[in-house]
Amino acid sequence: MRNTHRFGVATGLCAAALATFNLHALAAEGYKDTPIIPGQKWHVHDSDRPMAPVITPAETFSLGAPPPSDALVLFDGKDLANWVGDKGAARWKVENGYMEVAKGTGAIRTRGAFEDFQLHLEFATPAEVHGHSQERGNSGVFLHGRYEIQVLDSFENPTYADGQCGAIYGQWPPLFNACKKPGEWQSYDIVFQAPHWDDAGKLLKPAYVTVIQNGVVIHDHREILGATGHRVLPKYSPYPSHGPIELQDHGNPTRFRNIWLRKLNESEQP
Ligand code: MG
Repeated sequence: MRNTHRFGVATGLCAAALATFNLHALAAEGYKDTPIIPGQKWHVHDSDRPMAPVITPAETFSLGAPPPSDALVLFDGKDLANWVGDKGAARWKVENGYMEVAKGTGAIRTRGAFEDFQLHLEFATPAEVHGHSQERGNSGVFLHGRYEIQVLDSFENPTYADGQCGAIYGQWPPLFNACKKPGEWQSYDIVFQAPHWDDAGKLLKPAYVTVIQNGVVIHDHREILGATGHRVLPKYSPYPSHGPIELQDHGNPTRFRNIWLRKLNESEQP
Protein backbone atom coordinates (compact mmCIF):
# COMPACT_ATOMS: atom_id res chain seq x y z
CA MET A 1 0.00 0.00 0.00
CA ARG A 2 1.03 3.56 -0.35
CA ASN A 3 3.35 5.21 2.11
CA THR A 4 2.56 8.90 2.37
CA HIS A 5 5.80 9.64 4.18
CA ARG A 6 7.89 11.55 1.65
CA PHE A 7 11.49 12.66 1.56
CA GLY A 8 12.08 16.37 1.21
CA VAL A 9 13.78 17.95 -1.79
CA ALA A 10 17.54 17.97 -1.32
CA THR A 11 18.65 20.12 -4.21
CA GLY A 12 21.59 22.39 -3.51
CA LEU A 13 23.19 20.16 -0.90
CA CYS A 14 26.76 19.00 -1.35
CA ALA A 15 27.34 15.25 -1.79
CA ALA A 16 28.34 14.62 1.83
CA ALA A 17 25.40 16.54 3.17
CA LEU A 18 23.15 14.73 0.76
CA ALA A 19 24.40 11.36 2.01
CA THR A 20 23.75 12.40 5.60
CA PHE A 21 20.35 13.68 4.60
CA ASN A 22 19.49 10.40 2.94
CA LEU A 23 20.57 8.35 5.95
CA HIS A 24 18.39 10.42 8.23
CA ALA A 25 15.53 10.28 5.80
CA LEU A 26 15.77 6.50 5.46
CA ALA A 27 15.87 6.04 9.21
CA ALA A 28 12.61 7.98 9.43
CA GLU A 29 10.78 5.70 7.00
CA GLY A 30 7.57 4.36 8.47
CA TYR A 31 5.30 5.52 11.26
CA LYS A 32 5.04 5.87 15.04
CA ASP A 33 1.52 7.29 15.16
CA THR A 34 -0.21 4.02 14.27
CA PRO A 35 -1.72 1.44 16.68
CA ILE A 36 0.36 -1.30 18.32
CA ILE A 37 -0.05 -4.65 16.56
CA PRO A 38 -1.79 -7.10 18.97
CA GLY A 39 0.68 -9.48 20.59
CA GLN A 40 3.68 -7.51 19.35
CA LYS A 41 5.66 -4.51 20.60
CA TRP A 42 5.59 -2.71 17.28
CA HIS A 43 3.37 -0.07 15.79
CA VAL A 44 1.79 -0.85 12.42
CA HIS A 45 4.55 0.06 9.88
CA ASP A 46 6.87 0.90 12.81
CA SER A 47 9.84 2.97 11.67
CA ASP A 48 11.99 1.36 14.40
CA ARG A 49 11.20 -2.24 13.50
CA PRO A 50 14.31 -3.92 12.09
CA MET A 51 14.26 -4.80 8.42
CA ALA A 52 14.69 -8.49 7.63
CA PRO A 53 18.33 -9.61 7.23
CA VAL A 54 19.45 -9.64 3.61
CA ILE A 55 20.57 -12.87 2.02
CA THR A 56 21.31 -13.73 -1.59
CA PRO A 57 18.99 -16.42 -2.90
CA ALA A 58 20.17 -19.06 -5.31
CA GLU A 59 19.79 -18.17 -8.95
CA THR A 60 16.85 -20.45 -9.48
CA PHE A 61 14.51 -22.48 -7.30
CA SER A 62 11.00 -22.98 -8.64
CA LEU A 63 11.24 -20.52 -11.54
CA GLY A 64 9.44 -22.03 -14.49
CA ALA A 65 8.08 -24.89 -12.36
CA PRO A 66 5.58 -26.83 -14.47
CA PRO A 67 2.18 -27.34 -12.78
CA PRO A 68 1.62 -30.79 -11.23
CA SER A 69 -1.17 -32.88 -12.74
CA ASP A 70 -3.81 -31.77 -10.23
CA ALA A 71 -3.00 -28.05 -10.38
CA LEU A 72 -5.35 -25.36 -11.64
CA VAL A 73 -3.42 -23.18 -14.05
CA LEU A 74 -4.50 -19.63 -13.26
CA PHE A 75 -2.19 -17.91 -15.75
CA ASP A 76 -0.24 -19.64 -18.47
CA GLY A 77 1.16 -16.53 -20.10
CA LYS A 78 -1.42 -16.30 -22.85
CA ASP A 79 -4.51 -14.49 -21.55
CA LEU A 80 -6.45 -13.34 -18.48
CA ALA A 81 -9.42 -15.65 -19.04
CA ASN A 82 -9.28 -16.83 -15.41
CA TRP A 83 -9.21 -13.29 -13.99
CA VAL A 84 -11.67 -10.43 -13.54
CA GLY A 85 -11.27 -6.75 -12.66
CA ASP A 86 -13.29 -4.39 -10.50
CA LYS A 87 -15.62 -3.57 -13.38
CA GLY A 88 -15.70 -6.77 -15.39
CA ALA A 89 -12.85 -7.95 -17.56
CA ALA A 90 -9.28 -7.82 -16.24
CA ARG A 91 -7.46 -5.13 -18.22
CA TRP A 92 -3.81 -5.72 -17.40
CA LYS A 93 -1.31 -6.06 -20.24
CA VAL A 94 -0.38 -9.56 -21.42
CA GLU A 95 2.71 -10.03 -23.59
CA ASN A 96 5.72 -12.31 -23.92
CA GLY A 97 4.34 -14.85 -21.47
CA TYR A 98 3.68 -12.45 -18.60
CA MET A 99 0.97 -10.11 -17.36
CA GLU A 100 1.83 -6.58 -16.30
CA VAL A 101 -0.07 -4.18 -14.04
CA ALA A 102 -1.80 -1.56 -16.20
CA LYS A 103 -1.76 1.48 -13.93
CA GLY A 104 -5.20 2.65 -12.89
CA THR A 105 -7.12 -0.38 -14.15
CA GLY A 106 -7.46 -1.78 -10.65
CA ALA A 107 -6.77 -5.06 -8.94
CA ILE A 108 -7.54 -8.32 -10.67
CA ARG A 109 -8.75 -11.50 -9.03
CA THR A 110 -9.34 -15.10 -9.99
CA ARG A 111 -12.79 -16.12 -11.14
CA GLY A 112 -12.49 -19.13 -8.89
CA ALA A 113 -12.45 -19.12 -5.09
CA PHE A 114 -10.40 -21.47 -2.97
CA GLU A 115 -10.12 -22.62 0.62
CA ASP A 116 -6.75 -24.08 1.61
CA PHE A 117 -4.20 -24.15 -1.18
CA GLN A 118 -0.64 -24.28 -2.46
CA LEU A 119 0.06 -21.38 -4.82
CA HIS A 120 3.00 -20.91 -7.16
CA LEU A 121 3.61 -17.60 -8.91
CA GLU A 122 6.48 -15.62 -10.33
CA PHE A 123 6.93 -11.85 -10.34
CA ALA A 124 9.37 -9.21 -11.49
CA THR A 125 9.48 -5.63 -10.30
CA PRO A 126 10.34 -3.01 -12.97
CA ALA A 127 13.92 -3.09 -14.24
CA GLU A 128 13.85 0.69 -14.45
CA VAL A 129 13.80 1.97 -10.89
CA HIS A 130 11.58 4.90 -10.02
CA GLY A 131 10.85 6.32 -6.59
CA HIS A 132 11.75 4.78 -3.28
CA SER A 133 10.25 2.80 -0.43
CA GLN A 134 6.63 1.80 -1.17
CA GLU A 135 6.73 3.39 -4.62
CA ARG A 136 9.15 0.85 -6.10
CA GLY A 137 7.52 -2.07 -7.87
CA ASN A 138 4.66 -2.22 -5.40
CA SER A 139 1.99 -4.82 -5.98
CA GLY A 140 0.73 -7.64 -3.80
CA VAL A 141 -0.76 -11.10 -3.66
CA PHE A 142 -3.99 -10.96 -1.67
CA LEU A 143 -4.89 -14.42 -0.35
CA HIS A 144 -8.68 -14.82 -0.24
CA GLY A 145 -8.65 -11.25 -1.56
CA ARG A 146 -7.93 -10.04 2.00
CA TYR A 147 -4.46 -10.97 3.24
CA GLU A 148 -1.63 -9.26 1.37
CA ILE A 149 1.74 -10.89 0.84
CA GLN A 150 3.61 -7.79 -0.24
CA VAL A 151 5.28 -7.56 -3.63
CA LEU A 152 7.85 -4.77 -3.72
CA ASP A 153 11.28 -4.01 -5.10
CA SER A 154 13.13 -4.55 -1.83
CA PHE A 155 16.60 -4.73 -3.37
CA GLU A 156 18.53 -2.03 -1.49
CA ASN A 157 15.29 -0.16 -0.92
CA PRO A 158 14.63 0.66 2.74
CA THR A 159 11.02 0.92 3.83
CA TYR A 160 9.13 -0.01 6.95
CA ALA A 161 9.80 -3.66 7.83
CA ASP A 162 6.20 -4.85 7.73
CA GLY A 163 5.86 -3.40 4.23
CA GLN A 164 8.97 -4.84 2.59
CA CYS A 165 8.72 -7.54 -0.06
CA GLY A 166 7.36 -10.75 1.40
CA ALA A 167 5.78 -9.07 4.42
CA ILE A 168 2.30 -9.97 5.58
CA TYR A 169 1.48 -6.35 5.12
CA GLY A 170 1.27 -4.38 8.33
CA GLN A 171 1.70 -7.50 10.49
CA TRP A 172 4.87 -9.50 9.96
CA PRO A 173 8.08 -8.71 8.10
CA PRO A 174 9.54 -11.66 6.20
CA LEU A 175 12.10 -13.70 8.14
CA PHE A 176 14.69 -12.80 5.48
CA ASN A 177 15.06 -10.39 2.59
CA ALA A 178 15.64 -12.92 -0.20
CA CYS A 179 14.92 -10.48 -3.01
CA LYS A 180 16.52 -10.38 -6.40
CA LYS A 181 17.42 -7.27 -8.35
CA PRO A 182 14.83 -5.11 -10.11
CA GLY A 183 13.68 -6.73 -13.33
CA GLU A 184 14.74 -10.25 -12.34
CA TRP A 185 12.12 -12.98 -12.05
CA GLN A 186 11.39 -14.22 -8.54
CA SER A 187 9.19 -16.99 -7.19
CA TYR A 188 6.65 -17.25 -4.41
CA ASP A 189 5.50 -20.66 -3.24
CA ILE A 190 2.73 -20.14 -0.73
CA VAL A 191 0.79 -22.59 1.45
CA PHE A 192 -2.37 -21.08 2.89
CA GLN A 193 -4.82 -22.41 5.48
CA ALA A 194 -8.16 -20.61 5.53
CA PRO A 195 -9.65 -19.13 8.70
CA HIS A 196 -12.85 -20.57 10.09
CA TRP A 197 -15.72 -19.20 12.18
CA ASP A 198 -18.58 -20.81 13.99
CA ASP A 199 -22.19 -20.11 13.02
CA ALA A 200 -22.30 -17.18 15.44
CA GLY A 201 -19.32 -15.55 13.72
CA LYS A 202 -16.75 -16.40 16.42
CA LEU A 203 -13.30 -17.08 15.02
CA LEU A 204 -12.45 -20.73 15.56
CA LYS A 205 -9.15 -20.81 13.69
CA PRO A 206 -7.13 -17.97 12.17
CA ALA A 207 -5.51 -18.22 8.77
CA TYR A 208 -1.97 -19.54 8.55
CA VAL A 209 0.57 -19.04 5.80
CA THR A 210 3.93 -20.43 4.81
CA VAL A 211 5.83 -18.53 2.13
CA ILE A 212 8.98 -19.51 0.25
CA GLN A 213 10.56 -16.74 -1.79
CA ASN A 214 13.25 -17.77 -4.25
CA GLY A 215 13.84 -20.97 -2.29
CA VAL A 216 14.02 -19.25 1.10
CA VAL A 217 11.37 -19.73 3.80
CA ILE A 218 10.24 -16.24 4.75
CA HIS A 219 7.12 -17.26 6.76
CA ASP A 220 6.89 -20.60 8.56
CA HIS A 221 3.25 -21.44 9.34
CA ARG A 222 2.71 -17.82 10.36
CA GLU A 223 -0.60 -16.83 11.92
CA ILE A 224 -2.33 -14.11 9.93
CA LEU A 225 -3.86 -11.60 12.34
CA GLY A 226 -6.72 -10.47 10.10
CA ALA A 227 -7.33 -8.62 6.86
CA THR A 228 -4.33 -6.45 5.99
CA GLY A 229 -4.47 -2.69 5.48
CA HIS A 230 -2.50 0.55 5.48
CA ARG A 231 -1.96 2.13 8.90
CA VAL A 232 -4.77 0.10 10.45
CA LEU A 233 -4.92 -2.90 12.75
CA PRO A 234 -5.60 -6.28 11.15
CA LYS A 235 -9.18 -7.37 11.62
CA TYR A 236 -11.08 -10.56 10.87
CA SER A 237 -14.62 -10.44 9.54
CA PRO A 238 -16.49 -13.69 8.90
CA TYR A 239 -16.97 -14.79 5.31
CA PRO A 240 -17.56 -18.09 3.52
CA SER A 241 -14.59 -20.42 3.69
CA HIS A 242 -13.40 -19.68 0.15
CA GLY A 243 -11.82 -16.63 -1.47
CA PRO A 244 -10.01 -15.60 -4.66
CA ILE A 245 -6.37 -14.82 -5.35
CA GLU A 246 -6.10 -11.07 -6.00
CA LEU A 247 -3.19 -9.13 -7.47
CA GLN A 248 -2.79 -5.47 -6.59
CA ASP A 249 -2.61 -2.47 -8.91
CA HIS A 250 -0.44 -0.06 -6.95
CA GLY A 251 0.42 1.98 -10.04
CA ASN A 252 3.74 0.26 -10.78
CA PRO A 253 4.28 -1.96 -13.88
CA THR A 254 5.15 -5.12 -11.94
CA ARG A 255 4.89 -8.38 -13.87
CA PHE A 256 3.54 -11.85 -13.05
CA ARG A 257 3.82 -15.18 -14.82
CA ASN A 258 3.40 -18.95 -14.32
CA ILE A 259 0.62 -18.92 -11.73
CA TRP A 260 -0.87 -22.21 -10.61
CA LEU A 261 -2.67 -23.51 -7.56
CA ARG A 262 -3.35 -26.86 -5.91
CA LYS A 263 -6.37 -27.18 -3.65
CA LEU A 264 -5.75 -28.62 -0.18
CA ASN A 265 -8.31 -29.92 2.30
CA GLU A 266 -11.30 -28.62 0.43
CA SER A 267 -14.46 -28.70 2.49
CA GLU A 268 -17.80 -28.34 0.77
CA GLN A 269 -18.18 -25.34 -1.46
CA PRO A 270 -20.29 -22.59 0.14
MG1 MG B 1 1.40 -3.89 -2.11
